[in-house]
Amino acid sequence: MEVIKKQTGAAFKLKKGQKLKVIDPQGEQVSDMVLFNAEDTREKISSGKTLDFEESILITKGNFLWSNRSHKMMEILEDTNGRNDFLLAPCSPETFQIMYNNPDYHPSCFENLYTNLEKFDIQPDDVPTAFNIFMNVQFAPDGKLSVDPPLSKAGDYVLFQAQMDLIVALTACSAEDSNNGSFKPIHYAIID
Ligand SMILES: [Zn+2]
Repeated sequence: MEVIKKQTGAAFKLKKGQKLKVIDPQGEQVSDMVLFNAEDTREKISSGKTLDFEESILITKGNFLWSNRSHKMMEILEDTNGRNDFLLAPCSPETFQIMYNNPDYHPSCFENLYTNLEKFDIQPDDVPTAFNIFMNVQFAPDGKLSVDPPLSKAGDYVLFQAQMDLIVALTACSAEDSNNGSFKPIHYAIID
């Protein structure tokens, strides 16, 4: 079991067929996840392709995560919470300036993704819209969005299986709105 401390991230390789378990150890925490093809990092996870091919904006057990080249990257085998978001980009320094009116430095998922991905020669501009595990984004019929506290309880997890050799980056989200105002860790495990 690996620990991602509050407001940090991690990046690692996952072989085709291996499983990745992402756990919310305390409840009400979000983990942003991005994926790259380990053989060619220009191929990466795509929100647009996933929502299109899965014909849903709510992605959970039984769904696949697809790439910008229309290949399956992961299958979701289990999802004990059942609520994830694939609409919103990772929180970034600008998120806190624009949406929180905070001009000071603030840790962010974007920074925690690209700094951990540097060792794989992946640049900040290469980071796509993340699959936001446990994130509770609600939408009204008129399209209005709101980021609500996660519904995840302590010990909830999502189990993924790699459909190709992957580079995976994960965070413990740094945005107050994503985790009900208290920053917490995320745990993960790689299972053969
Ligand atoms: Zn975040």
